[in-house]
Amino acid sequence: MNHIDLRSDTVTKPTDEMREAMARAEVGDDVFEEDPTVNRLQELAAAMLGKEAAMFTPTGTMGNQICIRLHTQPGQEVILEERSHIFNMEMSAMAVVSGTLARPVRGEDGVLDWRFIEPAIRKGNPHVADTGLITVENTLNLAGGVVMRIEAMEDICQRGHALGLPVHLDGARIFNAVTALKRDVSEIARPFDSVMFCLSKGLGAPVGSMIAGPREFIKRGRKIRRMLGGGMRQAGVLAAAGIVALEKMTSRIAEDHSNAQLLAKGLAQVPGIKLDPERVATNILVFEVDGPIDAKDLQARLKERGVLAIALDSRQMRMVTHKDVSRADCERALSAVQEAMK
Ligand SMILES: *Cc1c(COP(=O)(O)O)cnc(C)c1O
Repeated sequence: MNHIDLRSDTVTKPTDEMREAMARAEVGDDVFEEDPTVNRLQELAAAMLGKEAAMFTPTGTMGNQICIRLHTQPGQEVILEERSHIFNMEMSAMAVVSGTLARPVRGEDGVLDWRFIEPAIRKGNPHVADTGLITVENTLNLAGGVVMRIEAMEDICQRGHALGLPVHLDGARIFNAVTALKRDVSEIARPFDSVMFCLSKGLGAPVGSMIAGPREFIKRGRKIRRMLGGGMRQAGVLAAAGIVALEKMTSRIAEDHSNAQLLAKGLAQVPGIKLDPERVATNILVFEVDGPIDAKDLQARLKERGVLAIALDSRQMRMVTHKDVSRADCERALSAVQEAMK
């Protein structure tokens, strides 16, 4: 049976156009910076984000970790939201790769602003480690794909910079933020010292992420990427799909958001499920299962009915819409939830 896979937008498969572009891609050795397709992708990403340079990385985790390593010194702290991917899902890499300690803070409904960051900043106190970096995640995955407003991001960057602190954006789903905020991606990227975003999630590319920032920063980043084992050779076959992702796939994200709304409105009506559809702003739904069964039971019962979703713990469940689930699939998923919760 063909499952309706709402576990993540990472499950999206490359489009026919991507596969054709991959087959045709001109390639070279990218460690020598001689892969024309990788170079084209990097120039395209830098231009779209309004940054001097960009670099292709095998994963978003590697992209984030390269940026953390470049911005910090061992022994420093990195401020981040306690539900952030960097804190929860990157295998404590900032401790291993950069010798830094995470200083998690909690934003309101997953949204950080300066009020929450400011008390965590440590600078010049001889008794405690200094803050070296602030990171922001937009959209914030584990908080339900919530979106941070442009003004809040600008405020954090401005105040951070005034204290000499760089600010990095984990924009794995930056184009979901673009779609929700109805702003250009360069406006979101502008205040940040560095940005990471994924090609391999809602944009549908099979592999890869990008980091963007000042030319000198990206140049140093190439060495860290190589140190981490991410110096790839004829990576143009992957970059070709990334170019299609950036040129063709960003405008259809709105469809995923509208499907997420359909799911949210339906789920909110199901007894035992707690979800405020108003809080679903992008393609991710995180809701509470508080009924006769818990989130893990619901995950198992949905699987029997051909629907895949992830229980984050025994109470919380996550569903993610993407290009490979249609509106009809979402309606079927909703019926499956209604049955499973009986
Ligand atoms: C997916 C994701 C990443 C990177 O994930 P990889 O699987 O390493 O590509 C980083 N941050 C967020 C918020 C993500 O959702």
